[in-house]
Amino acid sequence: MKLLKSLSLFIAFLAIQSCGYSQKSMKETSVLKGEMPEVAKKKSEYNQLNSKEKYVMLEQGTERAFTGAYHDLKKEGIYLCKQCNQPLFKSEDKFDSRSGWPSFDDMIKGAVTERPDSDGYRTEIICSNCKGHLGHVFKNEGFTNKNTRHCVNSVSLQFYSTSNKQN
Ligand SMILES: [Zn+2]
Repeated sequence: MKLLKSLSLFIAFLAIQSCGYSQKSMKETSVLKGEMPEVAKKKSEYNQLNSKEKYVMLEQGTERAFTGAYHDLKKEGIYLCKQCNQPLFKSEDKFDSRSGWPSFDDMIKGAVTERPDSDGYRTEIICSNCKGHLGHVFKNEGFTNKNTRHCVNSVSLQFYSTSNKQN
């Protein structure tokens, strides 16, 4: 009996642990609601970046495929720059490229700047306001009618929900 009791306690403990974990991963898919944050124009007003965000946005790093918070997010909303809050992409332009990174076939006009990547063949995309690294743009792959794929790191983005739906 004693063994059974400690076994059930152990199972209860595991259940609590796994709930805790799922709450944590929910939180990582950070969704902004309420008032949209203002775009930070000065460096001193930029959002603080954690080490992973710094690696991607300031050192042109890349998050591992399928690990980001937004690669399969289908909610209605706007994707803002993580560093300066500038609106960059709309959910209506997001499509499933199965690449493991959020993919958009269009951008909010003027929000994204293209420049040749230092690797000599790809085209890098950066936020036009803060110059933070977002990812790369690929053209003529035939995914959508616009024939453009902005391949963006989730950590360079923050999602602002424009829908009242909870899911
Ligand atoms: Zn920015």
